Amino acid sequence: MIVILLGPPGAGKGTQAAAISKSLNVPHVSTGDIFRANLEYQTALGLEAKKYMDQGQLVPDDLVVRLVADRLAKPDALEGALLDGFPRTIVQAQALSDILAAKGKKVDVCLLLEVPDEDLIARLSGRRVCRGCGAGYHALFSPPKVENVCDKCGGEVYQREDDSAQTIKSRLAVYHKQTKPLVEWYQSRGLLKVINGRSDPKTVEAEIAKALA
Ligand code: ADP
Ligand code: AMP
Repeated sequence: MIVILLGPPGAGKGTQAAAISKSLNVPHVSTGDIFRANLEYQTALGLEAKKYMDQGQLVPDDLVVRLVADRLAKPDALEGALLDGFPRTIVQAQALSDILAAKGKKVDVCLLLEVPDEDLIARLSGRRVCRGCGAGYHALFSPPKVENVCDKCGGEVYQREDDSAQTIKSRLAVYHKQTKPLVEWYQSRGLLKVINGRSDPKTVEAEIAKALA
């Protein structure tokens, strides 16, 4: 099953991904996580992506599409994948459809997490992430028990560089201009399911489970 998690930065895609990927038994494929992992190891891909990520801009389509095509060819993605943060442009959506068609597959559903911009700014500016296991926190709404230490793995909890006020503004503008057209793209293909991302995380999880049932 190929499931897309669509929504603005901070909508809760990463927060919801673990439960969905477990329930569907498909890998969680986050292009943002892949870029950050590459940056950690200072690979050429990571360093190239950083130029765009730091500005809150999108990494060029050809680079992202190649990355996703390679990832979907890995054995663990043979039965499907949960795509988080991809596609983000119409060009990427078309490329995804072509990659899948070549394997006799297609997108099964696109879940749109809807959250208004004013909530997103508060969420992103307080977001904290574990460097070790990727668990997500919020400085005010859901901090780790011990400051900067992950409850789950003891790893370092940090603030992403692109969660600064200026970059958040750019990322939201980029979402509205380049990614939002995908709502209409998937809706017109009968694949869109809208989820109220403003509810608390457990309620969102239940709504997603219902949409996937
Ligand atoms: P995304 O992956 O869509 O960019 P995240 O899952 O990283 O977003 O969530 C962004 C921030 O919002 C995190 O700090 C997270 O703890 C918080 N958050 C996620 N879901 C909710 C929710 N339903 N209500 C309030 N805060 C949330
Ligand atoms: P995310 O972790 O999804 O918030 O992504 C962080 C950053 O990685 C984005 O602001 C972009 O710079 C880059 N990125 C992630 N996914 C994509 C994508 N599908 N297309 C272009 N850039 C992406």
